[in-house]
Amino acid sequence: MKSIFSDRAKVDLIEINQLPLFNENNCHNVPASVKEISQRIDDADGVIIATPEYDHAIPAALKSMIEWLSCTSHPFKDKPVMVVGASYGSQGTSRAQINLKQILDSPGVNALVLPGNEFLLGNCRDEFDANHKLKNKQTIAFLTECFDNYLDFIHKMVPDLTEEETDMNYVDKIAWSTTYDTLVLGFGGAGATAARHAADSGAKVLLVDAAPAGHEGGNTRYAAQILASGDDVPGLKAYYKAMTAPFDLDEKMIDIFVKKMVDFPNYLQNYLDVKPYSFKHSGGQLSAFAKSVISEFPELAGADSTDALTVHNGIFDAALWKIIRQKVLDRSDSIDVWLNSRAMHLIQDPISKVILGAQIDRNGKTYNIRAKNGVVLTVGGFENNKEQIQDYLGETKLSPLGTLYNRGDGIRMAAEVGAKLWHMHNYEAVGFLHGLAFKVPDGKRARLILDYWPDLYTGSILTIADDATRYFKEDEECRHGHIWDHGTWRVPRANQHPYLIFDQAQLEQIKANKNIPYSDFLDTLVKADSIKQLAQKLGVDSDNLVNTVTNFNLFAEQGKDYEYHRAPASMRKFDNGPFYAAALTHTMLNTQGGPKRNANAEIIGLNGEPVPHLYGAGELGGINTNLYQGGNNLAECLIFGKIAGENAAKPKDDTTTSNNHAEPSEVGNVAPQNDLAQTNLDDIDLESNQYLGVSDQGIGGRVVVRVTYDDSKIKDVEVIEQNESEDFGLKAVEELPKNMVANNTYDVDGISGASASSRALKSAVKNALAKVSE
Ligand SMILES: Cc1cc2nc3c(=O)[nH]c(=O)nc-3n(C[C@H](O)[C@H](O)[C@H](O)COP(=O)(O)OP(=O)(O)OC[C@H]3O[C@@H](n4cnc5c(N)ncnc54)[C@H](O)[C@@H]3O)c2cc1C
Repeated sequence: MKSIFSDRAKVDLIEINQLPLFNENNCHNVPASVKEISQRIDDADGVIIATPEYDHAIPAALKSMIEWLSCTSHPFKDKPVMVVGASYGSQGTSRAQINLKQILDSPGVNALVLPGNEFLLGNCRDEFDANHKLKNKQTIAFLTECFDNYLDFIHKMVPDLTEEETDMNYVDKIAWSTTYDTLVLGFGGAGATAARHAADSGAKVLLVDAAPAGHEGGNTRYAAQILASGDDVPGLKAYYKAMTAPFDLDEKMIDIFVKKMVDFPNYLQNYLDVKPYSFKHSGGQLSAFAKSVISEFPELAGADSTDALTVHNGIFDAALWKIIRQKVLDRSDSIDVWLNSRAMHLIQDPISKVILGAQIDRNGKTYNIRAKNGVVLTVGGFENNKEQIQDYLGETKLSPLGTLYNRGDGIRMAAEVGAKLWHMHNYEAVGFLHGLAFKVPDGKRARLILDYWPDLYTGSILTIADDATRYFKEDEECRHGHIWDHGTWRVPRANQHPYLIFDQAQLEQIKANKNIPYSDFLDTLVKADSIKQLAQKLGVDSDNLVNTVTNFNLFAEQGKDYEYHRAPASMRKFDNGPFYAAALTHTMLNTQGGPKRNANAEIIGLNGEPVPHLYGAGELGGINTNLYQGGNNLAECLIFGKIAGENAAKPKDDTTTSNNHAEPSEVGNVAPQNDLAQTNLDDIDLESNQYLGVSDQGIGGRVVVRVTYDDSKIKDVEVIEQNESEDFGLKAVEELPKNMVANNTYDVDGISGASASSRALKSAVKNALAKVSE
């Protein structure tokens, strides 16, 4: 209970194992150990007694302690007491608790015992983990409910414990681990931007991320790195209003957003030291791809004003992310970074509602971090939280394309402190067709395939839903997963096990493509001699699948798709087989929902007022709703990350809370730590035939290799440092060095799905080999 509730109350543990057995004859010569316990009970606002059960009652030692106190100082008199218990057996101390409550009610003890709220922990051997923490979420939730009721009970039962008094003292009741001016939760694009601008405003900042070292960066590092921008403010504003309609966004917020987007060239030069590459103004004929990136909704008002920027002429290479991250590294004097550190709860003053700090789980330990001027919530969305995907999006299965560390913690934390949530229903997808990928096991990232691949919707091929019927127009234009749906753009309902279904002619058509974007899926095909047999193998309704293919053939013959209006020229009648199926999954790019914020990046509470000292930026509760223009999310990270960081850095003058009392020197037992320290290259040992190669082209930053080169041959390539993705990137890290040795060249084929990592390894080895002749 001490570790779970240290953000709500200061909890001291008292052991009773040093007390002598009660002896009435010694009541006038009370042992010091009894006196000490009596004093500590006296000083406390309440007492929780945790008892085991022996022979249907409390242990003699506990009874003896109560006897000492009831015979002498009576510290339990009018003291709110909560009783909890744990036992090896299944009954969880039910009899002992009744027994204890009866004793506490007796004259001489006169405690005020919390009624109801029976926390009985049975079979307790299995209930704790290796760190002695409760494992079961439901048990913790019930204990929390009982504890909250107990805190209410204390306030009701102790008349002189006024609200004002508890308010004044709340901040001092928390066992703070350390204190910063600004605490930024989440080291993605928004968090890095907030931390950097908070530091530039003079704040001492702690930036924490749940991912382990080298895997911070969230969705930002996986992103295409495109920033939405525009040529003029009125046009861009009209476009954003049209995308948001029929909803009205806060006018001030949209004004700031579009003004700053138009000003991005200056922003990038002033704060990131880069001259941006403009998709629109780079010269030459615009490709269809460039046009679709610049304006996803060209039919909307203001669409002529939109543009898209990158930090150089390239996408999907973490280029913007690496610059933002470097800005944090450059400020290591004022920004400490904790990785592998998951924010669990915000710590809020119960009366003034000021956010005082947050509780962080780091390497199995819990830390209460005090933030004097503000906390910035930038922990990304809920791409990897099945329950929230079900609750907010109504979907059962979506495979993330970005980070797996965005688990919806921000939504939970914001809700706990009374924030209003908004835009919960919005999310984006991409991939082939309207946003699909080949099936991956649950909990894995899907492989993003964005290449032009018409063989998946042209010919004798269709896509089926869980019930073996078609469910969308396969050749439909898609806008971040949204397709045209009865007058609006919407992501179609996701299915749990969609399949591509095709015939032998289609298989040959697919294989004939010299630039096939991804051929590994051909090894996973399900094959059958008839459609009925195929349905049986897939476990889908065979009558439906036969009907689906029969109808498709009819539409192909008639030259009209009466069901989904697919272009007749894209439909070929299925041949006589064999027939094939490829398992698919619906993808999840990123979510938009989260706590509502205003133009100052303040998070808004259910009462419509800002939650004091709490700020937000990035995709968690972002500005996007209804339609989505690509590039908007990173734009939000830069724009609102800066505003949030600057505002969370400003010293506060809240009279409603005592938070200004806490000084770094007075509290804390955690020395400053920074997990971003890099290996010193001079410390890496090299033999005379070994050469060090470095590249900054990795998706996770620096890649360092040690190459052994003898007799004009690459003998060995060791990867000394890398932070590539745990799945596709790691494959490149494992495979490429072997291929380089086998082929005696750095210039080997890259790994599909890991182009940035492959590029980085090749350029690191090239860099090492360049030193051979030196
Ligand atoms: C494949 C892909 C391509 C995309 N391309 C683009 C694009 O080109 N342009 C664009 O605008 N948008 C793009 N997006 C969307 C965009 O990347 C994200 O919306 C944006 O990066 C979100 O930034 P963020 O800082 O809010 O969150 P993130 O970058 O996701 O960072 C959140 C961080 O919080 C951490 N975290 C999570 N929970 C906790 C916790 N409890 N405690 C501490 N840390 C925590 C995570 O580890 C993560 O590092 C793309 C997304 C994907 C997946």
